[in-house]
Amino acid sequence: MAKWKGISKARKNNVPEFGKELVRRSKSTCELCGESNRSLSVYEVGKTDEEADLKRCVHICDECKNTIKNLDKATEYDLRFLNNAIWSEEIAVKATAIHIISELENKDRYPWIEDLLDMIYIDDELKEICEKMKH
Ligand SMILES: [Zn+2]
Repeated sequence: MAKWKGISKARKNNVPEFGKELVRRSKSTCELCGESNRSLSVYEVGKTDEEADLKRCVHICDECKNTIKNLDKATEYDLRFLNNAIWSEEIAVKATAIHIISELENKDRYPWIEDLLDMIYIDDELKEICEKMKH
């Protein structure tokens, strides 16, 4: 069963400093689902033993956070934010969406999710960030 091991709450080193930057970047909307007026927190995707990297951090709402934390229980409805996130102009968000899709088991149940990966172009920079997110 796939577990979301790599994601953790903001840790002591420089992740908290990313807060301000992320507020600006996200314009106070959830970077995954695009909803505003929700409380947001900084999430770091991938290995937490590595140096914190803004490109592995996203500013997301509790709802998206819960979905990510319980990815094996996520329903198609819970995952609809991928439709929004995959087209994000912010590379960290795009990489997070790709990472989530790659972590999903049974994604063949949801062909639209697999289709998302076919629709986007993954350049070298994006590929590099996705690699960093892997456990
Ligand atoms: Zn959200």
